[in-house]
Amino acid sequence: MDYKIETRCIHGKEERENHSFGAITVPIYQTATFSHPGIGNSTGFDYSRESNPTRKELEDMISSLEGALDTVACASGMAAVSLCLELFQPGDHILCTDDLYGGSVRAFGELGTKRGLEFSYADTSDCVGTEKMIRKNTKALYIETPSNPTMKITDLSKMKELAIRYGLLLIVDNTFLTPYFQNPIDLGADLVIHSGTKFLGGHNDTLAGFLSTSRGELVSKIRYLYKTIGNCLSPFDSFLLLRGIKTLSVRLERQQESAYRIARWLKGHEKVRQVYYVGLPEHPGYEVNQNQSRGFGSMISFCTDTAGTARRVLERIRLITYAESLGGVESLLTYPMLQTHGDVPEEVREKLGITDRFLRLSVGLENPDDLIADLRQALS
Ligand SMILES: *Cc1c(COP(=O)(O)O)cnc(C)c1O
Repeated sequence: MDYKIETRCIHGKEERENHSFGAITVPIYQTATFSHPGIGNSTGFDYSRESNPTRKELEDMISSLEGALDTVACASGMAAVSLCLELFQPGDHILCTDDLYGGSVRAFGELGTKRGLEFSYADTSDCVGTEKMIRKNTKALYIETPSNPTMKITDLSKMKELAIRYGLLLIVDNTFLTPYFQNPIDLGADLVIHSGTKFLGGHNDTLAGFLSTSRGELVSKIRYLYKTIGNCLSPFDSFLLLRGIKTLSVRLERQQESAYRIARWLKGHEKVRQVYYVGLPEHPGYEVNQNQSRGFGSMISFCTDTAGTARRVLERIRLITYAESLGGVESLLTYPMLQTHGDVPEEVREKLGITDRFLRLSVGLENPDDLIADLRQALS
């Protein structure tokens, strides 16, 4: 059966998993290793670094949601990003969205460069400009859409055209919209990355990451790197992620509804100069996003009139928490300049508009009236 995504968030591809004793939820197989029934025989599981039944159920779940051939579950989003870098050789060039998650920029600049990889950054919402930056040694496009934190939208079908024309891998970090709203593989992506810490886990209580692929020839390569590097997700965290994903659809629908209301309210506030929310029709990427996804998500960035206002908001919020991260049931406010993008060079930050007046809000599951009241008193 081809079940709809809400159903797949709960059951995965299968109608019913066969767990011991009829357990409805997956048992936490807290074991490092597995006994072999005989010489040259295996239960299908040998050692938990390489595979584990709890983690496998989660990996199959993500593959089902993303339409991937295979997924590996990693200890964090950054572990998945690092694993992805291992697919490349010294001298390879990767062309990235210029407004990436700061941790990815740090990994590329430090670890990637040390391995002889080259990176450059383009405004991938501009396809013509992006094409001009493709080099002879370019091997991949690395895209975030919406981007983090300025919510720029990249047309994934156009990126796929470039990828085909120049023989590149198309890699998409799908953390912000999740497979509930967007399926990059349907639009041609070869690899999809997630920080499972965010919406997929959804409760700000654990870290996780995923690397999914739609390419048969990459499946065994990634599996080999995965068991060799050993940055796997623990059985307990795999269980938490599966538990989080069961409510992904209702959380995202509600969080998006609240985010839309809050974005509209922020737009009308006298101390707010600019609001970056994909769901506002005046957002520059609104139409492209509408063509390639089923929603806008619940991430809002905004600029205040002065740096003083931004700082006061961070100090005065009572219900919303000043903290890094996003996507959970608790609403969080981030100061990207100092937090998520602290390692991004200042001139790059300034160019993108990530200034001392720039704030990023992850809208959680609290009542939106309470969230607006908190923002109102903090902005007053
Ligand atoms: C948080 C995040 C990451 C890194 O994930 P961790 O789980 O924190 O390691 C990567 N990409 C994006 C878009 C993120 O928001």
